[in-house]
Amino acid sequence: MAGPILDVAGVTKNFGGFTALGGIDLVLNPGERLGLIGPNGSGKTTLINCIAGALLCDTGRIMFNGADITRMKAYQRTRLGIARSFQIPKPFPSMTVLQNVCVPLEYAGRREGGRLLAEEGRELLATMGLEQQASADAASLTQIDLRKLELARAMAANPALLISDEAMAGLSGNEVDEILAILFKVAERGVAIIMIEHIMRAVMRFSERVICLDAGAKIAEGPPDEIVRDPNVERAYLGE
Ligand code: ADP
Ligand code: MG
Repeated sequence: MAGPILDVAGVTKNFGGFTALGGIDLVLNPGERLGLIGPNGSGKTTLINCIAGALLCDTGRIMFNGADITRMKAYQRTRLGIARSFQIPKPFPSMTVLQNVCVPLEYAGRREGGRLLAEEGRELLATMGLEQQASADAASLTQIDLRKLELARAMAANPALLISDEAMAGLSGNEVDEILAILFKVAERGVAIIMIEHIMRAVMRFSERVICLDAGAKIAEGPPDEIVRDPNVERAYLGE
C-alpha cells in the first residue's frame, strides 16, 4: 500500500515570542478530504503556509510523497504537487479569466503532447464552472467567480494536494454548495484536499476527517460526526 501523501511531524512556528504552532502532527492519505477548523488565530493559515512553503517552520519535519520538503521553497513544492488557494483571491485583474489560468499552466510546464495552452485552460475553466467567463476581465468577476478562479489557478499545476483556505467565506448558501460541488469533483479525480473553513455545514459535509486547532495546538481529530459533538471543540469556539 502506498504511504501517506503528506506527513507533518512536530511542526512549530513562532512569531517573535508568540507561538503560532506548538508542535503539530498531521498525516494525509492520497485522495483524502481533510477539514481543518479552529477559531480565528488558532494557526490554520500558518500551518498551511508551512506546508505550502510560504513560511518555513522553526522545528519539525514535513514529508510530501516521500520527499522531505521541510526546507524547500514554495515553487519547488508547487512543482512536486502542492497547490493552495489564498484566503483573499489575487488574480491578475487586467487579464482575462482564461489568461489568468494560462499563466500558472505555462509556469507549471503542463502542456501535454503539444496541446495548446488555451485549450487546456478552457478545459480547466469548464471543470471549475467558469467557461462562460473565459474572455471576461478578472476584475469584472463576482465574488463566487473570483473564488472559482482562485481554485482554478491552484489546479493549473495539476496538484496531488490542494489546500483551500476559506474559499467560501462571505458566499451565500447556494454559492457555498457550488464551491463544494467543485471541490468534490476535484477530489473524485484523486486529489487530496485540505479544506480550511469556518462554515461548519460545508466542512463537515465535505470532510472524511476533521482536525481542530486551538492556540496552535491540535485539540481534536476524527470523523465529522465525532468532531461536532467534541466538548474541546465546542469550548474552543465558545471562547471566540
Ligand atoms: P487562523 O488562520 O487560524 O485564523 P493564523 O495562522 O493566521 O490563524 O494566525 C495564528 C496566529 O499567528 C495569530 O495570532 C496571528 O496574529 C499570528 N500570526 C500569523 N502570521 C503572523 C506573522 N507573519 N507575524 C506575526 N504574527 C502572525
Ligand atoms: Mg486563516
